[in-house]
Amino acid sequence: MSSVSDEEPLLAVEGLEKHYPVTSGLLQRQTGTIRAVDGIDFTVREGETVGLIGESGCGKSTAASTVLRLEEPTGGTVRYRGEDVTAYDDSRLRRFRREAQVVFQNPADAFDPRMTVGESVAEPLRVQGFDRRDDRVAVVTDLLERVGLSADVADRYPHALSGGQKQRAALARALSVNPDLLIADEPVSALDVSVKAEMLALLRELQADLDLGVLLISHDMGVVREVCDRTVVMYAGEAVERGPTESTFTDPAHPYTAALVDAVPTVDTTTRRSGGHLDGEVPDPANPPDGCRFHPRCPAVVQPEALDADQAVFRAVVDLRLALADGDLDRAAASELAAAPDGGSNPSEGVSDPSDGVSDPSDGESNPSDGVSDPTADVSDPSEVDDEAITAAVRAEFDIPREMGNETLELAVAETLDALAADELDRARDRLARVTDSPCLDQVPETTTVTAETATQRAVDCHHHVADQPGSRDEVDVVRTTTPRESADD
Ligand code: SF4
Repeated sequence: MSSVSDEEPLLAVEGLEKHYPVTSGLLQRQTGTIRAVDGIDFTVREGETVGLIGESGCGKSTAASTVLRLEEPTGGTVRYRGEDVTAYDDSRLRRFRREAQVVFQNPADAFDPRMTVGESVAEPLRVQGFDRRDDRVAVVTDLLERVGLSADVADRYPHALSGGQKQRAALARALSVNPDLLIADEPVSALDVSVKAEMLALLRELQADLDLGVLLISHDMGVVREVCDRTVVMYAGEAVERGPTESTFTDPAHPYTAALVDAVPTVDTTTRRSGGHLDGEVPDPANPPDGCRFHPRCPAVVQPEALDADQAVFRAVVDLRLALADGDLDRAAASELAAAPDGGSNPSEGVSDPSDGVSDPSDGESNPSDGVSDPTADVSDPSEVDDEAITAAVRAEFDIPREMGNETLELAVAETLDALAADELDRARDRLARVTDSPCLDQVPETTTVTAETATQRAVDCHHHVADQPGSRDEVDVVRTTTPRESADD
């Protein structure tokens, strides 16, 4: 990896947005907005590789094409060497696109199948005024060798090249115009493991030799960790964590980053993180969740002050709350669950030790375990299931144990399920909303600068990193809070 200078960034992206209107009807009235990229900040300096990472559908590639103005941004600014790219006229934009080259996931897209590889690599040179064929051939030969291909590849057609050779040739073509910035969009994801390693080594070598600024887009955490100086983690159109790659991987500050890191296979069990599973999918960018967009999937969703419940149990109860609020769960749906062949299955799986502070069932208060039906009940008609079977089925479906080690939560869930069984949805929703009152569900987290033990700083959008927030990660000191989306890398 390169050393990074403190000079003005080669590329500075601030509040970048790419929204698409959703229209319907004969008059094509706008009925919604797809927020593919929704206000992201990052910088790329000369000689630096920055990784843009996240699952498929989180907006990474749209961000790249918007930076290049292959698609026009709908908000924010893109500065290249201090100039506003969004204000470029056609002539300056053409020049910018020579200075900022792109390599795509599928290298075949870079080649005209009717042209030899040499002709394709030479094409940008010809456009730039390299009129003498001998000059072009010399440059192409040099470029092909530089990317590890023999000169005779120039006479072949793209279909005769392997995937790895094609990607190298695509790189040679991109380098033919001496770019300052290279945007590589999943450049190795279509390659097999050994070829991938060679390509990454080549990318590192070229970046260092040519002092290139590189924006590397990838869903592969291993790729980003290997070659990137800094990493920007994107989720649902937003940048949720930005900072030096090493500390981002060794000490992720955002639960989404932690889940991505946990998903990286490793043979070293001593470095494997715990508790990071990632259920569900990236939300629909036309209808992102309120509050923190990660809240429907976040295992670390912030608890109300003083609740102090087991985190996995709290997550399960939040899932129940969301299902009630979204209309996915009502008495009819719960009856269907109860009537299903495995309905009312024992919800006590994963129950904490019954002796660890659970309230005494004999104390006269409502106890969740009171209402669990006999799981052997052979019910198949939803209209015939009783309230006990309904509440048991919902507990099983949401993995909510009868005994949670937290009286407040137990009582709230019991009363919620009673209300659900009584078909009093508003009461059920209200009861659960009170006990799961988390900022994650309705407040957009501000960007906070956190300092890791290594003294590196990262910008993180998560309620766990707000000053005085209970449950903040112990190993991270909140040194100051900034305005939303302010970057820590400037
Ligand atoms: S703000 Fe809440 S839901 Fe979002 S990542 Fe942080 S803890 Fe999870």
